[in-house]
Amino acid sequence: MDCLFCRIVAGEIAARTLYEDDQLLAFHDIGPQAPVHFLVIPKRHIASLDRLTEADRPLAGHLLYTAQRLAMEQGCAEGFRLVMNCNDLGGQTVQHIHMHVLGQRQLHWPPG
Ligand code: AMP
Ligand code: ZN
Repeated sequence: MDCLFCRIVAGEIAARTLYEDDQLLAFHDIGPQAPVHFLVIPKRHIASLDRLTEADRPLAGHLLYTAQRLAMEQGCAEGFRLVMNCNDLGGQTVQHIHMHVLGQRQLHWPPG
């Protein structure tokens, strides 16, 4: 298994876990870009956003809703940002779908 995030799901690499259920895992980003910065991932390996299929619609909704609930729990009621980078031009560096949740600082637009 050469996928970093699959190895985190399997418990082979340690992570600071925030939340887990049968489908999802959330853990703090190792290189935080904001006071709150964590990742929400599906436990099942999906390499990138463009690999989602029709059958993944419930999973995608669960991911989005869970990210929102965890943002609230982490004290981001004043605002937060969700980011999913896709492939090279999108800036994706880990090839396992992940939702970034960033909060507790002023975020700017446009992104770099
Ligand atoms: P992306 O560039 O969208 O693919 O984001 C990958 C994210 O994974 C980056 O924000 C990294 O800091 C984060 N990351 C890489 N390795 C780990 C790790 N072992 N534990 C937690 N976060 C990680
Ligand atoms: Zn994976």
